[in-house]
Amino acid sequence: MTGHRIRWIWACAALLAIAGTNLAARADEADGRLDIYFIDVEGGAATLFVTPAGETLLIDSGYPDNNGRDRDRILKVLRQEAGKSHLDHAAVTHWHLDHFGNHAALASEIEIKNFWDRGIPEVLSEDKKFEERIGPYRAASQNQSRKLSVGDMLPLKSDKTPLSVKIVTASRDVIPNDGPPNPFAKAHQPRERDASDNAASLSFLLAFGEFRFLCCGDLTWNVEAKLMTPNNPLGQVDLFMVTHHGLPTSNNPVLVHAIDPVVAVMCNGPVKGGHPETLKTLQGVKSLKALYQLHRNIKVRPEDQTPPKFIANTESSSDTCAGTFVKASVAPDGKSYTVQIGKRGERSTYQTRP
Ligand SMILES: [Zn+2]
Repeated sequence: MTGHRIRWIWACAALLAIAGTNLAARADEADGRLDIYFIDVEGGAATLFVTPAGETLLIDSGYPDNNGRDRDRILKVLRQEAGKSHLDHAAVTHWHLDHFGNHAALASEIEIKNFWDRGIPEVLSEDKKFEERIGPYRAASQNQSRKLSVGDMLPLKSDKTPLSVKIVTASRDVIPNDGPPNPFAKAHQPRERDASDNAASLSFLLAFGEFRFLCCGDLTWNVEAKLMTPNNPLGQVDLFMVTHHGLPTSNNPVLVHAIDPVVAVMCNGPVKGGHPETLKTLQGVKSLKALYQLHRNIKVRPEDQTPPKFIANTESSSDTCAGTFVKASVAPDGKSYTVQIGKRGERSTYQTRP
């Protein structure tokens, strides 16, 4: 073949490849599904939502440092799985480094259009270095982050099926305790007041058609009860992100049993979270069909964890961990959803409760 002809064939092949990528990207955007990625950040939290309208929301951003491990895992899921190059919304549940560790680092790589948090306190009693640590976040958000209070709604666009995200706890406040009586309310055993920022976490209740998802950050025991007693203002949910990495200072049964999730995802690490007491609480959930763990907890007996097929990462060290995510994907009408481990994991389908 002549050099001219070879160049011509290459040009055609390149054009076809570009057209193929574009089609794939468009098919993804137009599939009408709501995707939720629970990104493995080794015992921190980073949850990415991609909406049917094509918007992106990241709640929390994992740990800083570790050679940008968590930042890179978030970027990889955003770019390679979701096919996106920016974040429309980035939220922080509370001011601990395993939750806001990479907002600034992400902002130096990609555009973040809106920053949301519970308001930045002057001091944080448990973190003497807070003033120093919050500097990069203030700079990245250009001091324009917006404070969320209970009852606020995130301004997400709906496509055909209505999508909403409501703030149900913020800075120790809770939404009004309306709703039917919570049958588990009487079982509440108050504990000593938690002075840490965990108790001040933002909680997000997402609704997509009839589908409900709840994420409470690291909200702790007494505020969970404040939200859920004597009445249940949240109703039941389909999917629950187990609170506080599965630690037993959170996951009060008055909340977990009342919301009665069908599927739960626990964002624990190899040595953090995934506590047997939390597992016991989850085993008491009437409707629970599956509990996914981001990690095997190497300090906990296998019988005190979810079965191996629901564990995304089994390595004993974070250094060798591939950081496999758990993905939930809700059908365009909100009436069913799939959950899988990693890109190629087996998909289980669940029906949204009517
Ligand atoms: Zn945490």
